[in-house]
Amino acid sequence: MGLMVVLGGGLYYSQTTTAAALMLNGQEIGYVASPDEGKQLVDSILVSQGDSSGLVAKTHDQIEFQDTRIRKGTLQENSVTEAKLNNLISTYFEGVQFSIEDAPIAILPSEDDFQKVLQAYQEIYAKPSENNTITSVEFKELISSQPVEVQQAEFSSPEMVLETLRKGHEARTEYVVQPNDSWWLIARKNDMLTKEVLAGNPGMDEDKTLQVGEKINLVKVTPYLTVVSKGIYTGTETIPFDVESKTDYSLPSGSSVVRQEGSDGSKKVTYSYVQENGKNIEKEVLEEKIIQQPVTQVIAKGPTYASANVALSRGSGKVSGLGWPLRGGLNSYYGYRWGSFHTGLDIGGDTGQPFVAAAGGTVSSVGWSGGYGNMILIDHGNGVATRYAHASKVSVSNGQQISKGESIGLVGSTGRSTGPHLHFEVIINGDTVNPLNYLP
Ligand SMILES: [Zn+2]
Repeated sequence: MGLMVVLGGGLYYSQTTTAAALMLNGQEIGYVASPDEGKQLVDSILVSQGDSSGLVAKTHDQIEFQDTRIRKGTLQENSVTEAKLNNLISTYFEGVQFSIEDAPIAILPSEDDFQKVLQAYQEIYAKPSENNTITSVEFKELISSQPVEVQQAEFSSPEMVLETLRKGHEARTEYVVQPNDSWWLIARKNDMLTKEVLAGNPGMDEDKTLQVGEKINLVKVTPYLTVVSKGIYTGTETIPFDVESKTDYSLPSGSSVVRQEGSDGSKKVTYSYVQENGKNIEKEVLEEKIIQQPVTQVIAKGPTYASANVALSRGSGKVSGLGWPLRGGLNSYYGYRWGSFHTGLDIGGDTGQPFVAAAGGTVSSVGWSGGYGNMILIDHGNGVATRYAHASKVSVSNGQQISKGESIGLVGSTGRSTGPHLHFEVIINGDTVNPLNYLP
């Protein structure tokens, strides 16, 4: 009997092996050769679920090993493979939820990434330079980060989050059309571009007439985050020269002679500012030193027929409160250029875009006028008048009372014009002056 036991025992030891039962949340799921090998298996799964950036998965599952001795065949048949454990184990990643005013924006892999995004966003709008000293930078909104447990697909990269912040979000409101509104005027009232207003109203275009009381969408893109920066700027600025033009009746109509060449001056300015996302909201000049005085250009020009045959008011010529008739780039300035005298400011625009009266007044001339094409002349009293030329359509009539900002016509390219734009003149006591000296 004793021999049998010894023999049986020998056989048992040669056919069995030490192993560890892997217990997942108290349930045995199979065997591994040893607890160490089992732990390596778990680590390998957590690493493989992560990525090359060093992101490693975590698990709340309870994994325990019980040392045991089993038949070699049993170990082979019931071994825990990486694929099997991978299917059974629940994993998560530790992330950082980024919120603005308590509204979650994105989940980032780490607090470092969160700080990196904030830093990069600040640098878009607040950058020190040779001329610019920044004294403080902060965010207007309440920003928070909070640890969260997520799946990998929920992560955003810092680059993606920065892009989201740069683009801003769409805020949708409704606008009720008021009397005299135009697409352009609605855009202006809401600090938007006509294009942006139209984009929020599919199927609409600038030629569509608006009905009072009609509801339209205002889809405005607003930033998630506002960088408030304070600083001091020192730099050299140009002082544009003035142009003085005098009617000389000894000259032929339409011709002009430069009596004195003008030249720009320059000044050194130092000012403190408060900016929101790079735009000045407060500016205080601390010091201003003129380096060079500008020289006024003096022009003598022959009489112009268009203004000669219209009786315009005469007066002090005091101008205040003129507004831009059209929002657009400046294609050509007032003054002597390319061999002839340009009597106004060319403001770029698209055909059909409405333009408005620069100030309130009375229409003193409207209609076709030679090189001006379709033209509107408004007398503002006191010797001040404004002219709008090359219109594709005029929507006012002679003698009509106009208020400031009222839509009076549509941009075009009628008369002597090379493309759609608004030719805008400011006329004081019969002579044109540089509109830039009177516009805000
Ligand atoms: Zn022009």
